Amino acid sequence: MNDQSEIVELSIKGMDCADCARHIKDAIAAVPGVTEVEILLTAQKAVVRLDPTITGPGEIRRAVEGAGYSVVTPEAVSVQAPFLGQFTRHVLVLFGVVFGAVLFIVVIGEWFGLFEAVTRRLPWSVWLVFIFIGGYPVFTNVLRAAFRGRITSHTLMTIGVLAAVAVGEWAAAVIVVFFMRIGDYVETFTAERARRALKDLTAMAPQTARVERDDAEVDVPVAEVRVGETVIVRPGENIPVDGEVIGGQATVDQATITGESMPVEVGPGAKVFAATIARLGGLRIRALKVGSDTTFGKVIKLVEQAEANRGEVQRFADRFSGYYLPVVMGVAFLTYLLSRNPLATAAVLVVVCSCSFALATPLAMIASIGAGARRGLLIKGGKYLEALSRADVLLLDKTGTLTLGRPQITDIFPLEGFSADEVLTFAASAERYSEHPLAEAVREAAKAHNLPLGEPEGFTAVPGIGVRAWVNDRLIEVGSSRLISEAESLSPLAGLDAQGKTTLYVVCDGKPAGVLAASDTLRPEVPEALAEMGRLGVRRIELLTGDNERTAALLAESLGLQYRASLLPEDKIAVVKEYQAKGHVVVMVGDGVNDAPALAQADVGIAMGAAGSDVSIEAAHVALMREDWTLVPELFQIARRTMKVVRLNLAFTACYNLAGMSLAALGLLPLTLAAALQSLPDLGILVNSSRLLRRKTIWQSLKGS
Ligand code: ADP
Ligand code: MG
Repeated sequence: MNDQSEIVELSIKGMDCADCARHIKDAIAAVPGVTEVEILLTAQKAVVRLDPTITGPGEIRRAVEGAGYSVVTPEAVSVQAPFLGQFTRHVLVLFGVVFGAVLFIVVIGEWFGLFEAVTRRLPWSVWLVFIFIGGYPVFTNVLRAAFRGRITSHTLMTIGVLAAVAVGEWAAAVIVVFFMRIGDYVETFTAERARRALKDLTAMAPQTARVERDDAEVDVPVAEVRVGETVIVRPGENIPVDGEVIGGQATVDQATITGESMPVEVGPGAKVFAATIARLGGLRIRALKVGSDTTFGKVIKLVEQAEANRGEVQRFADRFSGYYLPVVMGVAFLTYLLSRNPLATAAVLVVVCSCSFALATPLAMIASIGAGARRGLLIKGGKYLEALSRADVLLLDKTGTLTLGRPQITDIFPLEGFSADEVLTFAASAERYSEHPLAEAVREAAKAHNLPLGEPEGFTAVPGIGVRAWVNDRLIEVGSSRLISEAESLSPLAGLDAQGKTTLYVVCDGKPAGVLAASDTLRPEVPEALAEMGRLGVRRIELLTGDNERTAALLAESLGLQYRASLLPEDKIAVVKEYQAKGHVVVMVGDGVNDAPALAQADVGIAMGAAGSDVSIEAAHVALMREDWTLVPELFQIARRTMKVVRLNLAFTACYNLAGMSLAALGLLPLTLAAALQSLPDLGILVNSSRLLRRKTIWQSLKGS
């Protein structure tokens, strides 16, 4: 990749169908200097990678406008949102009524020859005016596309209208125009509905913040809060930043981030997240992150961009919808050649004209991703839902993933020449800046013994092994048995392993100084969640850990799992690859920090407890915003349901269009009915996909929460 490249994001108005998206993509791709274009239909955005020395946002904007669409600023989009939502609701109601009525009239009319009767009464000029007024926006679109040498589904329908006019079927032509417009509304509504999940999410973003400036409290837009400022939050208000509580006490509803509806108590020192709500009590918060740097900001961004991570199914559908128009035209041409029936030909052109094939997959994916985000499941793309639905191997990390990740030092064994306090002081000083859960435990133990810590120099952490640092001119190493060759021969230790404790070796200037034992607790919801995974069709569940053999074996046996112990981070990657080479679809659950490489290698890498941890959010394909194992089977269930909906959407659209086209080609489908039926698949996939927006999953209902 060219390191000169820059990414530009544009919000585009009026991009509602797959046709439009394709046109915009082509228009942008044609700009010199553009290397990559992604169109996010649901976020109504184009993400463009370009070479800033050749081109810039201005040129991209002109290209989009040249294609007949307008670029809007993000603020304009969000201001528009509530209105659009209202608008589409009205359209749907109106549509239901009008659609029913007109369909009825069409069928009855066709039956009794009503159209011919009416056609004879009205002069053709009146019909022409109807057609022109009703079809004006469509015709201009078709012309604009034609000038660029492009054909859209509207082009086909327009040909259908012209065919009807040519044979004097004026009433039929008007009805086709009418349904063409209805079809557009349905399509807009469908795309709009897909965006709803996203909009529901962004609607929760805080707008203003009350900050302390020059001893006064001022309200400012959230974008203007600076890191380090003090923010005041009153009871019932939205917390505007990610920060640390410096005063006050409150219960905070963090459901927006974690999906957990049970509020948490916070007080000074606690971390709070933007877009969560303070209830019962006010807070003073020091802003640590603002705007798009906050966890909530990242979630929104990733959910928006999720559409770009297309899976196989969608790529297939995209490719297929590219062949769509030529195929329909071919069938229409054959129909005309064989039957010389212009109305049957027109019916072929009209009946299949809809975007449903292109919308079938993203609609379902985005619905699930949006609904997931509200439940504390950040899924970065349809690709991962697809993989999850096929996954058969689940690999688990131990420390911080299966266990609570809050180990405690239970025993201290000094070796010859060292005292217990010395060993603990060395260890805690060396671990001073390590983020590993075991380091935390060592520091806690030192604190409990009131031992003062030394300042480490030349600190290095070796993932999966331990840490090394100079403390008071001595080289201290703390870590796994890999640190010392004679580990096995150190006598008191066999007993510790047998208790399932993690052993930490402390080495001073290359000489074993002592051993610490730590025990961690299994997360209580793990056994049930793992049992559920088995029921969901995951064949093999395996524990991968850097911890020692005995500890791993005890835990794995108690859960009925396979295991591999004493693994380095690269060994974990190798295990993932090994399963992939055998054709398995591998899901790995880890803490996202020291397991990041293995998570990235897995088909789906899931990070536990990612809220507030940028590293985890970035490293994982799916980030669980709270540390709760019940989210894992829930995720699998969402994936399965989503793929079921996708498959049904695609099958329905394909069958519908095939049947419609065949009937039309055989002259069995009157043109008016063909026009009336063309937006039905859109509605079908909309209704079907909306099932995924339901708040509760089966898993939750079972738990009775
Ligand atoms: P897991 O795979 O169970 O999550 P890790 O890969 O994080 O475990 O670590 C494996 C082993 O390496 C630990 O059991 C411990 O013995 C040692 N280790 C890693 N980091 C540290 C550290 N900061 N301090 C002490 N020991 C460590
Ligand atoms: Mg770990």
